[in-house]
Amino acid sequence: MRSNKAVVKVMTPKRTEGAIASMMERVLVELGEDPKREGLVRTPGRSEAAMRFLTSGYHMDLQRVVNGALFKVKYDEMVIVKDIEFFSLCEHHLLPFFGKIHVAYLPKDKVIGLSKIPRVVDMFARRLQVQERLTQQVAEAIQQVLEPKGVGVICEARHFCMMMRGVEKQHSATTTSSMLGVLRRRKETRDEFLSLVRQNSLYA
Ligand SMILES: [Zn+2]
Repeated sequence: MRSNKAVVKVMTPKRTEGAIASMMERVLVELGEDPKREGLVRTPGRSEAAMRFLTSGYHMDLQRVVNGALFKVKYDEMVIVKDIEFFSLCEHHLLPFFGKIHVAYLPKDKVIGLSKIPRVVDMFARRLQVQERLTQQVAEAIQQVLEPKGVGVICEARHFCMMMRGVEKQHSATTTSSMLGVLRRRKETRDEFLSLVRQNSLYA
């Protein structure tokens, strides 16, 4: 079993404007392309901008993302945010994987602004990832900021590295989950979450 300790590091990679673009130009040459031809002249720059955006989660800070949107309430039923779309990059091939994340938590004495949960997902999705770690990091981040009785995260995703390379069937989806606190310990709580997620699931 993995530790439940939150891994919410803020990394500060070196950023030299144009550094990725100049390497992408060499990649184009290596692929047998002519980086000077009209359609490709601005491609290295665009590619750098896209790559920087898709990994911008490294520069996000959990406290700043949540920005104090925690509210004291007496509510103690499960809160579920379903079908949060995400797009990430697999760290093994630098190809996209994408899908939906479902988050549930059982509040102790506070709740989080609902719009913040998708932002927490983006913070971790916009990095080089593996699906299992993304799932776990979202759960641990919610646990860390909210200290609820329990957190559950389910991630359903499709990986371009599998779909495009013909390794697996094009429509196969991978599901991962991370359950903390009562969602890990209490079967009926976990089942409640799972059955709510399964209703109308895109991948069911
Ligand atoms: Zn991959």
